[in-house]
Amino acid sequence: MFASSPFPELLHHVTHWLGGYALVLVMMVAGAALERCWPAELLQSRAGMRFNVAYAALYTAFAEAMRPLMAMASVAIVNGLGGGRVVLASRGWGALASIVIVLLTFDLLEYAFHRLQHVWPVLWKLHSLHHSAAEFNVTVTLRHHWFEVLLKGCLLYPVVGVLFKVEPWIVGVTAVIFMFGNYFAHMNLRIDLGRFTTWVNNPQYHRLHHSNRVEHFDHNFTQLLPLWDHLFGTLWVPSKHEWPATGLDDGAQPHSLLGALSWPLRSQARRVLTNTRATHRLATRQTNNHGSHDEHV
Ligand SMILES: [Zn+2]
Ligand SMILES: [Zn+2]
Repeated sequence: MFASSPFPELLHHVTHWLGGYALVLVMMVAGAALERCWPAELLQSRAGMRFNVAYAALYTAFAEAMRPLMAMASVAIVNGLGGGRVVLASRGWGALASIVIVLLTFDLLEYAFHRLQHVWPVLWKLHSLHHSAAEFNVTVTLRHHWFEVLLKGCLLYPVVGVLFKVEPWIVGVTAVIFMFGNYFAHMNLRIDLGRFTTWVNNPQYHRLHHSNRVEHFDHNFTQLLPLWDHLFGTLWVPSKHEWPATGLDDGAQPHSLLGALSWPLRSQARRVLTNTRATHRLATRQTNNHGSHDEHV
């Protein structure tokens, strides 16, 4: 009787959801505490943060609810395409090499998908919700459209399973590294990494990606390692005092949770990506006119 009871499974799901919420809460509270000590931008709106936190709660619930569907899609893709072409070690130094390989693969996939999000209008309609935050802080970390969770979970991440046969704990370790990196990169934190600024994604480096200034558009796409921006020509090295204002160039942003959930249905943001060549021409002109980058705090 107890074996067929739905309650253990329900309890398992509820525990997973609560765990997900607890993690988001801990990361955002810790991030907010650091931001209070060393803010890059002063006097940010509490209402804006509350909005992002409420949206993050919805986003987290959706992501947890979609987990079984994403797992099914992964299994189907991996089985269909023949998974685990390269077997990765899971012991000793080999395990460390495996973590590096999986991490680089995920990061390259994230970079490629992020580039697509900025050039393919359908994807930009979704991704522009993330860029619509006029105030850049740790609460923006999960301000992604819910449909992106499905796209990445069902189509992007299974690629790693197709390429590699790898122990789940190795994927888990890389996921934790990405999680910390993602919260860190979105912090409103005035931290100067000096010459290491372009070694790992960080609050200033990623703030440039969220900048509402045209010359910054389509730079610093990386999720974790700026290596990819170096290699593919999308690197913008922030100067010491370069902390630009953020948001969409037309200032559009959702005014309600419903507006955020249905964000892609709004009339198209003007910055649909942008004729890149025209953008670069304009950027070059502006840079020449102004001589140097402006400072925004
Ligand atoms: Zn982006
Ligand atoms: Zn971001």
